[in-house]
Amino acid sequence: MKSLNASFPHPVNVHLVILLVLAAFGLLLSQASWRAYETARETSVAAEANALRFAAAAATYQQSLFDHTHQLLRVLGGISLTQQHDAATCNAFLARQLESFPEYNNLAFADSNGLVWCSARPLPDATAIPGAIAASQKNPRLFSFGRDSAAFTLPYFTLDGRLQGAVLASLPAQTLLPIKNAALPQDAEYGMIDSRGKLVAAYPSLAAWGASDFRFAQTLHSGSAARLSGPDGERFYISEPMPGTAEELRLIVRLPTDGSGRLASLALLLAALGCTALSWWALGRVLSAHVAEWRAKADKKRLHAIHRWRDKAITLRDKFRALYRGHAPPRPDTTVLRVAYEELKGAFANKEARVRQLVQLDELSQRLQSCMNTAELADAVARCAAAIFPGSSGALLLRAPDQATSALTWSGNNTSHTETIAPQDCWALRMGRPYHSQGTSAAACAHVATAVNYVCIPLMARGELLGVLHLAGLPDNSAAASAIPWAATAIAERTAIALAAVRRQERLQLRAIRDALTGLFNRGFLEEALTIEQQRAVRRGSPIGVMMLDVDHFKRFNDTFGHDAGDALLRGMGGILRHTVREGDMPCRYGGEEFVVILPGADLNGTRQRAEVLRAAIEQWNPQHNGRSLGTVTVSVGVAAFPLHGDTGQAVLKMADQALYAAKHAGRNRVAAPKA
Ligand code: GH3
Ligand code: MG
Ligand code: MG
Repeated sequence: MKSLNASFPHPVNVHLVILLVLAAFGLLLSQASWRAYETARETSVAAEANALRFAAAAATYQQSLFDHTHQLLRVLGGISLTQQHDAATCNAFLARQLESFPEYNNLAFADSNGLVWCSARPLPDATAIPGAIAASQKNPRLFSFGRDSAAFTLPYFTLDGRLQGAVLASLPAQTLLPIKNAALPQDAEYGMIDSRGKLVAAYPSLAAWGASDFRFAQTLHSGSAARLSGPDGERFYISEPMPGTAEELRLIVRLPTDGSGRLASLALLLAALGCTALSWWALGRVLSAHVAEWRAKADKKRLHAIHRWRDKAITLRDKFRALYRGHAPPRPDTTVLRVAYEELKGAFANKEARVRQLVQLDELSQRLQSCMNTAELADAVARCAAAIFPGSSGALLLRAPDQATSALTWSGNNTSHTETIAPQDCWALRMGRPYHSQGTSAAACAHVATAVNYVCIPLMARGELLGVLHLAGLPDNSAAASAIPWAATAIAERTAIALAAVRRQERLQLRAIRDALTGLFNRGFLEEALTIEQQRAVRRGSPIGVMMLDVDHFKRFNDTFGHDAGDALLRGMGGILRHTVREGDMPCRYGGEEFVVILPGADLNGTRQRAEVLRAAIEQWNPQHNGRSLGTVTVSVGVAAFPLHGDTGQAVLKMADQALYAAKHAGRNRVAAPKA
């Protein structure tokens, strides 16, 4: 019993399942009944079209039958007129004729009163053809003749126009109607009506049509079907005229509309749709009831949870209250807590000092933002460090991309190497983390001159080690003896960020003033430098020497060894210029294979001498490219000096250019100066 209960779902779910099944069934049924309706409609339309085709074909067929019969009746009438026989001879004559026309079942002659006096097959006595003679004299007339037969009659006349009698040919009524069309529905019926709307012939039988009046059929349009309701249901009627008969005969075809089938499937469709809609509606109701129930349950759960948490909070609050009032026993003190407490106490005690330090750090941040180079940066850091740690000294160890580290020191030099420091000389650089040395006992960094209390804090930005902040002579803080002062770390953090920005800026500036191929200053830099140097020279009253060099027949190098070799040669020229000129001189690539060197403080003579040294060095040079010698290179040099050859740097440059032109003109590989 238990297992049975367990296997049954919740009763509401059973309803749901039933409704779902019903809804799905309703949908399927609607679809099926719609299809049935469509099929019935299509069948009915096809049958109607077939019946129309059939009626048109039948009318044509009968027309030919009438023509044929008309001809036969005319011939027989003519024979009867010329040969007056007795009845027996006449009967035998007509019987012979009938053999030649098997589609007819009898042939007969009637006298001028319409009484049959001779026939191919025996007929009841005094058989008359009522009204036959009075009818149209030109066309045969068709009428119902005995059981299941129809007869055509035609009067015949003497040459002077007197009525002699009538000739008759009868045939089975079915012969009048064409063979049953296979494409027509089984229950289609054909009939022939006369001008009074009376059935003359019918298939399958006259009885099936009843004795109705079919006059309405004469009003029907040829080539179309009318849907008409009678006592025995709705039917299609198709009516085609048959011209050439005495009476205006018509063929009619009638067939059931099958409206009932369509109606039935339509009714089924409506019922199915109704059932579907009802079940979906019920499904919606049940589902919404479920949703409401689930919501209520969820709300209840949530409320429970809220209550539980509120209770917990109240308990917690009460506990805290008790704790504050001293009701709760004091908790055992842990070491961590004690240390933290001491720190906090110290921090509160040094609150004022800390505020001061924060102000200094804030100032440092602002100053760092406007630093353009590392020297300015070191200056800002030095000021901040001196303010926060009075009496301290320090250095910024800056790490270059080639790993060499230079030092910028302040307030008492505690670093033994003033310019460069190897990476292994600093523990912080080696380990990539802060190093704190206290007194003489600790292992001091190699760059440190006196191992007083000092820290080295790595300057890290975006995962890159940019250098080290070295601070020496820090106050001995006994409370946190091993800890690095937080302000020192704060200075290092700010410095690292600013350093990364300055480096980036320096890199960009470098790119903007250097020529990419030779690494020399570019023309833009030259022009700026010349202006600055000119102002400085004016202030100091010192001269400036200017050289302008141009490689002789450089085009030939390009043509002989290729453009790459030409580039290599220019690169080599850059190297020679850099290494040959003195410190403070500025070698630039002026454009193409032309170079300019600015020599601040050099007069014309000195410049000429330096130019000669340069020219000789280049002449001695054996440039190579891809292991191939490029032969001898020579340069022509024009020299000029400020203020001797012009009152602006640009004017002097122009003079040097003219002197270069003169050197070229004089045979190249030489130094020339403007004529005095
Ligand atoms: P001259 O002795 O009169 O100075 O003759 P030259 O052939 O050196 O002078 P010219 O001005 O006729 O030709 C300079 C050539 O330098 C033309 C140019 O194709 C080449 N050139 C300029 N810039 C570069 C460069 O960056 N690389 C290379 N490979 N060739 C360059
Ligand atoms: Mg040139
Ligand atoms: Mg040249």
